[in-house]
Amino acid sequence: MSEHFFTCPYCWETISMLLDLSVEAQRYVEDCEVCCNPLQISYQVEADEVVDFGAAPLGQ
Ligand SMILES: [Zn+2]
Repeated sequence: MSEHFFTCPYCWETISMLLDLSVEAQRYVEDCEVCCNPLQISYQVEADEVVDFGAAPLGQ
């Protein structure tokens, strides 16, 4: 697992999430820990590094 920091597109707070690097690509919905709005999380893993991380408002 790797902790990844990013800016929430709803509240603009910097938040972090633990990402599972054992899976090549993931896409799921997780609530922001600050404002509790649903975020569409998507990312890819290459050589145990997170690439193409995205956190978008749900529905966009
Ligand atoms: Zn937020």
